This record gives sequence, C-alpha cells and structure tokens, in this order.
Amino acid sequence: MPQCHACERSETATEALSARGVRLTELRREVLQHLYHADKPVGAYEMFDRLKEEGKASAPPAVYRVLDFLVEQGLAHKLQTISAYTACTSKPHPHTAMFTICQACGDVQEREVAPSAALDQARGEFKVENLMIEAIGLCAACQ
Ligand SMILES: [Zn+2]
Ligand SMILES: [Zn+2]
Ligand SMILES: [Zn+2]
Repeated sequence: MPQCHACERSETATEALSARGVRLTELRREVLQHLYHADKPVGAYEMFDRLKEEGKASAPPAVYRVLDFLVEQGLAHKLQTISAYTACTSKPHPHTAMFTICQACGDVQEREVAPSAALDQARGEFKVENLMIEAIGLCAACQ
C-alpha cells in the first residue's frame, strides 16, 4: 500500500530526529504520526485521549512531554490562542511561523514570514526562543 502524504512527512520528521541523535520512543513516533494525520490542531488532552483509545498511552503527562519535546525540536508548533498543537508543515526551523486561524471553521494554515528589520531588531535586544504570529479571522471559504 503506498504511503499517504502525512505518513511520508512524519517519516521525514522521524528521520530528522534520528539524524540529530534523538532517541525515538514509541510514544514520540505515535504522537508525530497523529499530529501529521490530524486535519486540525490537536489539544494536548485530545491527543492523550486518542492514544489511550488505541492503548498506546496511559498517563497524560507523558504525552504532554512528548508534545513539548516536538515543539522544542521544531517539528511542531503550539498555538497559544487555541491551546493546541500542530505539526510543522514548513521548512526546517528556525523560521518565523505565522498561522492563520479561522474562527468559523477552525481551519489553520502555517505560512512563511519574510525576514524583516523589526524582527531582526527584536532579536538583537531580546533572546528569542520561539517566534510565532497567530492571526485570528476568517478563511477564504468562510468570509
Ligand atoms: Zn498516513
Ligand atoms: Zn513551522
Ligand atoms: Zn473558515
């Protein structure tokens, strides 16, 4: 059976982690798979619930730790406004991630942000660890 696009992406992400010498636990693989297959960002508890149903997780904290780990590794983003996680669909990090979040249908898209003088200046004065822009509004279909 040919692999779906999401499987391919999660495979690529898994390989990127191995190349960094990161140990890939079964749980880390599962969370990545789920993130890439989700059509919308997934809340931490929702992720735990799905894995629990499949008998792949027993305690929420372990799942939360994996999600934060994937964010640290630049493979996922945590959207603060809707407190949910999404797989990074862009080039390898670090990049400035911008998300458009539709209030009506919940559609979320990751977009590239061009470097800007304002961002460079902020970086000069402040040690940036995570730079994200979240735009809330209406997607083309919902306007
Ligand atoms: Zn798949
Ligand atoms: Zn990203
Ligand atoms: Zn929409």
